[in-house]
Amino acid sequence: MKHLINLATVLLVFLTVSSCKTDTKKEQETKEQHTDQISKKDCKDVHWSHHKGEDGPENWKNLCDGFSDCGENAQSPINIITSNVSKVDTLIAAKFSYGTSGVDIINNEHTVQFNISGEHNVNLNGTDYKLLQFHYHTLSEHTIDGNYYPIEVHFVHKNSDTNFAVLGVLFEEGESNALFEKYLDKFPTSKGSFKSEDIIDVLSLFPENKSYYNYKGSLTTPPCSEVVNWYVLKTPLTASKEQIEVFSKIMNNNYRPIQALNSREVQVYNH
Ligand SMILES: [Zn+2]
Repeated sequence: MKHLINLATVLLVFLTVSSCKTDTKKEQETKEQHTDQISKKDCKDVHWSHHKGEDGPENWKNLCDGFSDCGENAQSPINIITSNVSKVDTLIAAKFSYGTSGVDIINNEHTVQFNISGEHNVNLNGTDYKLLQFHYHTLSEHTIDGNYYPIEVHFVHKNSDTNFAVLGVLFEEGESNALFEKYLDKFPTSKGSFKSEDIIDVLSLFPENKSYYNYKGSLTTPPCSEVVNWYVLKTPLTASKEQIEVFSKIMNNNYRPIQALNSREVQVYNH
C-alpha cells in the first residue's frame, strides 16, 4: 500500500521550483552535505535535473526520501507498443467542459508552463477532473512503437491528492502551430514569466480526434508520485520546423527516459 501523498509535495512539481540553478556550485555542495548530515526527508531544496549526472533521472530516487517513488514499478513515461494495447468496451470518450483562460506563462527551469484561470473540467470514464495547468517537454516523454516525437504537451488535471489525470498530446513536424505563433517569442528563455490580457480557448489546443491510450502511471518529474491516470492522445498536433527548433532550444531536452511497463496494461479508446 502506498503511503499517502502529501499535497505540498505533489504540488511541488506543478509550481515554480525556487531552488534550482540559482545556487553556486559551492552553495550546492554545502547544501547537499547539510542534507546528508541532518536528514534526507526534506525534498524542498533538493536540486534535480533532466540531464545525466548526480542529480539526473537515474538518481532522482536517491536525492531525498520524498523522491523514492521515482524508483517504483508504475512509473511514467512509457513506450506504447500499439500491437500490445488492449481494446476494451468499458472506456468512453472524454467529456470536456472547458472555457477560456487568461495567459500566464512561466519558465520554472524545468519546463514552460501555462497556468490556467477559470473553470475547466473534464469527465474521464466517470471521474471529474479540474484542469490546473499545461506544460511542455522536448523531446516527447511517451514514445509510440519506440519513436520519439519532437514535443509533448501535458494538460494536468486533478480530482484529489491521490488522483490526477494528465492528457498528453504529441507534436509532429507540419503546419505552423497557432499558439506558438502568438507566444513563442514571449516564452521566457530562462526562469521568469510572461502575462497578457489575452484569452485562450483551451479546447482549441487539442486535436479534433480525441482517441486515446490509457494507463496508470506517475508524475514524470520528482516526486514521481504514482497518482496519475494517463491519457495519451493518438492524434498528434503540428508545429513548423522553425517553431520546433526555437522551442527545443528553450526547453533543452527536458524529458524523462522511458520507464518499464512491468505488469501494467495500456488500453485504447478509438472514436
Ligand atoms: Zn509533464
